Amino acid sequence: MRRRLVAGNWKMHGSRAVNLALLTSLKRSIAQVGGLDVAVCAPYPYLEQVAESLRGSSISWGAQDLSEHDAGAYTGEVSGSMLAEFGCTYVLVGHSERRVLHGETDSQVAAKFVAAQRAGLVPVLCAGETLEQRDGGEMQGVLLRQIDAVLKMAGVAAFKRAVLAYEPVWAIGTGRTASPVQAQEVHRHLRSLVAAQDAEVAEGLTIVYGGSVKPGNAKEIFSMPDVDGGLIGGASLVAGDFAAICSAAAEVQ
Ligand code: PEP
Repeated sequence: MRRRLVAGNWKMHGSRAVNLALLTSLKRSIAQVGGLDVAVCAPYPYLEQVAESLRGSSISWGAQDLSEHDAGAYTGEVSGSMLAEFGCTYVLVGHSERRVLHGETDSQVAAKFVAAQRAGLVPVLCAGETLEQRDGGEMQGVLLRQIDAVLKMAGVAAFKRAVLAYEPVWAIGTGRTASPVQAQEVHRHLRSLVAAQDAEVAEGLTIVYGGSVKPGNAKEIFSMPDVDGGLIGGASLVAGDFAAICSAAAEVQ
């Protein structure tokens, strides 16, 4: 049985007061459910607050990025070992906003994936195509390039301690969601890319969907056999919505 994950990506949102209210509400509303992991990925300055607030709760936390380097003259960067020191569990790697806005390449993303695991963190590797690429018939090639870069650098066994997130760029923050069937097709394809190297690793791999997941569409998407949960942006900032999405994931186990 694969583990399921619902992770919230706060992006560059929050303040100490807003975080406190959100976390307090989440701790009250999200009960521990067997086989379902729940995490919030907060901006760096709030990680200590999040770690403190979630201590002893069933919710874990993660960061939204890390450096591919362990230490050195990299102003503004944060290493995996720094995150690990605070009790970080997950770290997003290769989110489309990092790839597009910060020019992160497939090989840099792969190096970040390896750096995360070196520090004992679980990378959540994000992959997805733009609408132009999908319409142009390039989707499979794009996904292959993104996944292959990591498989080549990290090796397939590394996917035993990782999560894959399918995030079609056209669905992130747009209100436009992949249909459950579209999500299932791509998730099955992603699993087959890993299975080509190791079927057992592929079968155990948690693959979550991200892109405008809301309480109203979560259950239908999470019901698909190869969709093992979600990476949630906007709706993770609204405690009631995020809790409802977690409940939907728990219901379809
Ligand atoms: C995301 O930020 O990864 C995301 C999926 O955002 P949203 O849920 O807002 O589309």
